[in-house]
Amino acid sequence: MEINGREISKSIKAKLAEKVATFPEKYGSTPNLVVILVGEDPGSVSYVTGKAKTATEIGIRNTTIRRDENISEEELLALIDELNHDDDVDGILVQLPLPKHIDEDKVIAAISPDKDVDAFHPYNVARLWLKQPCSLPCTPKGIIKLLKSHNVLIEGQEAVVVGRSNIVGLPVAKLLLDNNATVTVAHSRTKNLAEITRRADILVVAIGKERYIKADMIKPGAVVIDVGVNRDSRNGKLCGDVDFEAASKVASHITPVPGGVGPMTITCLMENTIDSFVRKMERK
Ligand code: NDP
Repeated sequence: MEINGREISKSIKAKLAEKVATFPEKYGSTPNLVVILVGEDPGSVSYVTGKAKTATEIGIRNTTIRRDENISEEELLALIDELNHDDDVDGILVQLPLPKHIDEDKVIAAISPDKDVDAFHPYNVARLWLKQPCSLPCTPKGIIKLLKSHNVLIEGQEAVVVGRSNIVGLPVAKLLLDNNATVTVAHSRTKNLAEITRRADILVVAIGKERYIKADMIKPGAVVIDVGVNRDSRNGKLCGDVDFEAASKVASHITPVPGGVGPMTITCLMENTIDSFVRKMERK
């Protein structure tokens, strides 16, 4: 069965829009998301456009601040500082990657943890690993929502995550662990990857390699979550890290690319922005 991320995110977005519609009366205001885009990378431009469109659909005020790719690190940090101090800004997102002359870690750490809607700030990362309340990173959060929306049993199941990045692999492994799965994290130095992936009841793949996971690497009946976004060398279209056609004959549930994890990532970003706004209002 295909897990349709577009449909699931559509219903979550409708609920978020209903919630935001109550805010003017309840709080006298609505959430405000600021996205900073440095340079003209086509992938980044398209992601930022998608985020702005979704925010508008839900009723979240949003601005995209565009800066030339030659902006200095100092100027970017000064812009973030200004937004940190602007009480009308609830979420700050700096679209990654940044040009090489800018230290991404420094930029992420400069965002106020309260406005860190991507949840990449070291404070929020630490709170995730300490199991303390925090914003959750959008892609991992979206993956857990996808699993739950299909009533996939997580507790006690064997989960294998392929990929160990800070933004996907590691946090999704932690969230699966928090949901009581038994988790293995595989990576580029893993030996006998196929033997490990074949153990998985839940297989999450985030490596960025076109159709790398083949059907014979999947346990029959497994739930497969494909995070990868790649260009298919056969036809130039988007494709995942999993060989979807063959894998869908073996898996019980599988996410397509596009239309699986991607829409959920954006939806969770909206949810994080709304939560940040509500926390601000309740502090007042
Ligand atoms: P990174 O490049 O940061 O990490 C890739 C990970 O995959 C690394 O841990 C690497 O191992 C591992 N890896 C690479 N090759 C292999 C291999 N042959 N076998 C096993 N492991 C391997 O990528 P991200 O986590 O940022 O992204 C992964 C993919 O997900 C990309 O295609 C990206 O575009 C997509 N993505 C999609 C999102 C969405 O919303 N749909 C959001 C974020 C990312 P090692 O650590 O040893 O180098």
